[in-house]
Amino acid sequence: MVPITEYVLKVASRCNLSCDYCYVYTMADQSWRSRPLFPSPETVAATARRIGEHAETHGLDFVSIALHGGEPLLAGGARIADVVTAVRRACPPGTAVRARVQTNGVLLDEPMLRRLRAHDVRVGVSIDGGRTQHDRHRRDHGGQGSWDATVSALQLLRDNPDRYSGLLCVIDLANDPVEVYESLLEFAPPTVDFLLPQANWLVPPPRNGMETPFADWLIAVFDRWYGAPRQETGVRLFQEIIHLLLGGDSTSDQVGLSPVAYLVVDTDGSFQQADMLKSTAPGQPETGFNVFDHPVDAVLTHPEVRARQAGIDSLADACRQCTLVRVCGGGNYTHRFGTDHGFRHPSVYCPDLTRLIHHISDRVRSDLAVRPTH
Ligand code: SF4
Repeated sequence: MVPITEYVLKVASRCNLSCDYCYVYTMADQSWRSRPLFPSPETVAATARRIGEHAETHGLDFVSIALHGGEPLLAGGARIADVVTAVRRACPPGTAVRARVQTNGVLLDEPMLRRLRAHDVRVGVSIDGGRTQHDRHRRDHGGQGSWDATVSALQLLRDNPDRYSGLLCVIDLANDPVEVYESLLEFAPPTVDFLLPQANWLVPPPRNGMETPFADWLIAVFDRWYGAPRQETGVRLFQEIIHLLLGGDSTSDQVGLSPVAYLVVDTDGSFQQADMLKSTAPGQPETGFNVFDHPVDAVLTHPEVRARQAGIDSLADACRQCTLVRVCGGGNYTHRFGTDHGFRHPSVYCPDLTRLIHHISDRVRSDLAVRPTH
């Protein structure tokens, strides 16, 4: 049992955008409809108490909280401040609390940023490239694109780099990969996270008649990123794969075999597994535990939470026998969901992961081979 060090706290269950690929609203699980709009003060207090209790029990040096929604800034600065303050107060003196908000940026203005700074909250923003790429999917409820508002937020963050945690970009094969990457660089992000579209064996990703289109897309970005004369930004997926190839452990659940050490707390106080599981089946993220009645240690006994901490033991036979397993780790758990409604399958992105990892490995190996040893 590995203690939980990261909590995704839902501070708003609705969103001011209506992105067409959103796993919260447009996929199998529709539980958002019955959740409270915002967590009540009682839910916030109980959540903070459970986080603090778990940190104390396990002697944790730090805990990360990621404020999510829906759109978390709909909760308003005061509510966000209350959540962060409550968690910091509930944690023991030796536990640092790192706080971050993951937003679409539409409501991020100077007063909001001042408030977030006052409570030491950093900001990550979701953006899918330039105006055309972004507005294809990320529109408001009236069908208007959100690019202008998101760009205003990013200009603010570019001027306040101490608050800027990074960008999150969902891959769309319709977009030119290098064009997308370079458009993101204009906002001087400290890191970029590229996400594969939500897909599984029941709902496979579009392949446009190609064998490994997502690997091809990512390889184009990798070559542009890796071949730059100086590092322009961090790209988490590539850095994780290189780190794993060199013998390190993963820190994300996209690749590698590290135990998953995060949980979601929804606006009603229910403990849930990864939010992305909403893309698989109704109720799939539920654990049956909540902050009012159960300590975090109880959630760690849930069979699927345990499976996600079990590393290679929870993988399909094909993955266990795969030469890339230590690096790939079967990919993201959600992408393994199969027609039997189980997760003991290779990732639906297996061919892409295989090609991407081989490509990165070849580039890094050839660099190491030519590097002088003295
Ligand atoms: S998903 Fe594919 S590449 Fe990854 S470990 Fe499993 S078999 Fe290997």
